[in-house]
Amino acid sequence: MVLPKTPTHNSSTLIDSKDRPSVPGDGAVFVPAIAAIRTVVDQELAPHVQDIDLNGQYPGDIMQRLGAAGAFRQAVSPEFGGEGISLKGAIQSIEAVSKSCLSTGFITWCQVACTWYLQNTQNSELQKELLPAVAQGQVMAGTGLSNPMKCFAGIEKIALTATKVEGGFILNGQLPWVSNLGPGHYFGVVARMANEDAHLMVIVSDQLEGVSLRRCGTFIALEGTGTFGCVFRNAFIPDQYVLAAPCEAYIHQIQPGFILTQVGMGLGLVAGCIDLINRYQRRLGHVNCFLADQPSDLMAELALAQEQAYDLADELVQVEGRLSPALMKKVIQARLTAGEMSIKAANAAMLHAGARAYIKGSPEERKLREAYFVAIVTPAIKQLKKMLYAMGD
Ligand SMILES: Cc1cc2nc3c(=O)[nH]c(=O)nc-3n(C[C@H](O)[C@H](O)[C@H](O)COP(=O)(O)OP(=O)(O)OC[C@H]3O[C@@H](n4cnc5c(N)ncnc54)[C@H](O)[C@@H]3O)c2cc1C
Repeated sequence: MVLPKTPTHNSSTLIDSKDRPSVPGDGAVFVPAIAAIRTVVDQELAPHVQDIDLNGQYPGDIMQRLGAAGAFRQAVSPEFGGEGISLKGAIQSIEAVSKSCLSTGFITWCQVACTWYLQNTQNSELQKELLPAVAQGQVMAGTGLSNPMKCFAGIEKIALTATKVEGGFILNGQLPWVSNLGPGHYFGVVARMANEDAHLMVIVSDQLEGVSLRRCGTFIALEGTGTFGCVFRNAFIPDQYVLAAPCEAYIHQIQPGFILTQVGMGLGLVAGCIDLINRYQRRLGHVNCFLADQPSDLMAELALAQEQAYDLADELVQVEGRLSPALMKKVIQARLTAGEMSIKAANAAMLHAGARAYIKGSPEERKLREAYFVAIVTPAIKQLKKMLYAMGD
C-alpha cells in the first residue's frame, strides 16, 4: 500500500502556505505572564473543564486566580495596575485559557473587553474606581456589545434606549445574552438616546435598581459562562458610570481591540484540537494520514495565524486616532480566519479520533461544540463577511 505523502484537501485552504513555521508558537514571543497563566490553567482549570462544560459550573474562583496571574491586565496601563498596553498579551492570555476550556477562555475575553472599555474612557473617576479591580480579577465584568456591534453593521436594531435626566440616564430595553455575569458583576452596554441620532455607552451592574438578570435557555456549550438575559426597566444609571456620551468616536476606538482580542479564543481552540489529534498519531496514523486535514497542516496554519494576530496587535496599539480601512480589514480578516480555522480543526479532531470522539463527554465533541461559538459569537462569520463586503472586498 502506498501512503499519501501529501494528503488531499477537501476543505478550503485558509492561508498561504509559503514559508510557514511548523510548530505553533515557534518563534512567537510570549508575554511573561503566560507562564503563570498556564500554571493556573493546567493545575486549577483543567480538572474542572467537564463540570464547567456539562454542568454549567461558573469558574469564579479560577477567574480570580487567572486575574492574579495577570490574565486580565495585559492591555491596562501601569497606573491602573496593568502591565502596559499590550493587545498581544491580551490575545495570548485568552489563547492560553481557551486551549483548555473555551467557556473560561470566553469569559476571560469578556473581562479583558471590559478592561479595554475602561482603559479607553475619558471618565477618569470611573477608571480609577473600577479598572484596577477588574484588571486584577477582584471584580468580574462583561460586555453587552453584541447588539450595538450588529446594529452599527446594519444587522439589527439597537435594543436599549436612554433618556437624559438629572444626574444620569434612564435605560429601558433588554439584551438576550450577556456573559461573565453574577451578583455585583459589571458590564458595558450601549443605548440609543431617545429622540436623538446618538448613542451612549455606560457601565452597569445588576445591583442598580431597575437592572435584572434572567436565566437563558440551555446552551449546547459555554454553559458555565454565567450568561444571562439582562432587563432594564427604568434603570437609573448615574453620570459616574458613563464611558462615553455620545459614544460614536469611542466605539471606533475600542472596536478593533474588541474584535482582535477574540482571535485568542480561536488560536487556543485550534491548538487544543491539534494536541488531541496528535494523541492518535502513533496508534492511528497509518489510517488517519488519509484524512484531508493533517496535524502538520493545522500547525502551520495556526503558527501563521498567531504570527499575524500578534503582529497586528502590536501595530494596533501604535495607532493614534481612527484605524485606516486597510488595517481594519486585516483585523476583520484575522477574526474571520479564527472562526473558520476553529471549525476546521474541531472537525479534524472528530475525524482523527473516530468513534472515541462520538462518546458523550469526549474532549473532541466538546471542541466541536465550542468551535461553533467562535464562529457565531458577535462578530459572527456572517457579520465579518458582511463587513468586508461593505469595505469593498
Ligand atoms: C453562550 C452565549 C454567550 C453570549 N454572550 C454574549 C455576551 O457576553 N455579550 C453579548 O453582547 N452577546 C453575547 N451573546 C450573543 C452573541 O454574541 C450573538 O449576538 C448572538 O449569538 C446572536 O448572533 P447572530 O449573529 O446569530 O444573530 P442574528 O442571526 O443576526 O440575529 C438573530 C436575531 O435574534 C435577536 N438577537 C440576537 N442577538 C441579539 C442581541 N445581542 N441583542 C438583541 N437581539 C438579539 C435579534 O432579533 C436578531 O435579529 C452570547 C451568545 C451565546 C450563545
